[in-house]
Amino acid sequence: MLSPENPNAFTRSPLDRAGHHRADAAWLEAALNAENARLVPFYQHRPFATEEGGAVAPGWLNGGAHKHFGAKRTLFLGLDVQSAPHFAFEVSDEAQFVDLGRFDDLRALGPRLAPDDLAMLGPAKSVFEWHAKNGYCANCGTESVIVEAGWRRDCPSCRTEHYPRVDPVCIMAPTFGDKVLLGRQKAWPRGMFSALAGFIEPGEAIEEAVARETLEEAGLVVTHVRMHSTQPWPFPHSLMIGVLCEVEHDRETVDTKELESCRWFTRAEARLLIEGKHGECWAPPPYAIAHQLLKTWAFE
Ligand SMILES: [Zn+2]
Repeated sequence: MLSPENPNAFTRSPLDRAGHHRADAAWLEAALNAENARLVPFYQHRPFATEEGGAVAPGWLNGGAHKHFGAKRTLFLGLDVQSAPHFAFEVSDEAQFVDLGRFDDLRALGPRLAPDDLAMLGPAKSVFEWHAKNGYCANCGTESVIVEAGWRRDCPSCRTEHYPRVDPVCIMAPTFGDKVLLGRQKAWPRGMFSALAGFIEPGEAIEEAVARETLEEAGLVVTHVRMHSTQPWPFPHSLMIGVLCEVEHDRETVDTKELESCRWFTRAEARLLIEGKHGECWAPPPYAIAHQLLKTWAFE
C-alpha cells in the first residue's frame, strides 16, 4: 500500500492548484498583477534563484513582473494558504536579471532547495519543456494555442486538446534474501550505484514493466512486486514509480548495453550507502526516489 506521507522531493506542494480558476481570463489577469502575487521567472527551463548567506531560494518577483520582464509564457501554479496566487513565467532574455540573481539548472539546484520550493518549481519546468517541444498540433500540424492558464494547448484548426505529457518510469530495487541488486551506468560518477529503471510501455501494467525491465537489464525473474512510492521527476516530465521486487535467484546477467555493471549489496552495506559511509560506493542523494527506495529496504 502507498502512503500519503510521500517521502520524495518534488511532492507535497504547499500550493492548492485551484484548477477552477484556469479558464477565467479576467481572474488570471487580476491575479498576475495582484499585490500579493508571487511570480518566478524561467529562462531556457532554468528557474531564477537567489542566494543569501549560503541559502538558495526561488527568485520570487512581485505581481506585474511578467509584463515588466516581457514574459513569453505564464503558468498558474496555484494559491498558497493565504490565497496568494503563484505563477511561473518564461523569458527570452536573461541579461535583464543579471543584478538580481541567476538562472540555474534545477537538477543542480535540487539538493539545495527547500522541499516546498522544489514542489513548486518542478511542475513549471515540466510544463515549460512540454510547451517548447509541442507548439504544433500532433493531429494536423497547425500551430496550437495555450489555454487553461498554461496547462493545455488547443488546436484552432481540428479542435484537438493537448495536455502536458507525463512519462511513467518504473524504478526498482531487486532483492534476494538479505541483499539488494543495484546497477551503474558507464556515464555515472565513479562508485555510484542506483536502482534499475525503465519506461513503462503502452499495454503494460506497472508490475509487468518491472518484471520485463528486471529480466532485460539483469536477467532476473521477479517473483513479487511491492509498491514503495511515486515521484514526479521534472527531467523533463517523468513520473517515477518506485518498487521493491523480489527475484528468484541471485545469478544476474547484466545487459551491458544498458548498464556497465550490477552489484549485490547486503543490508548492512545498503545502510552504509544511505549514510554515505560505504567508502567504495555511493547511492544517489535523498532527493532521488532511488535513495528513498533503498533507505526503506535497508532499515526495515
Ligand atoms: Zn489540429
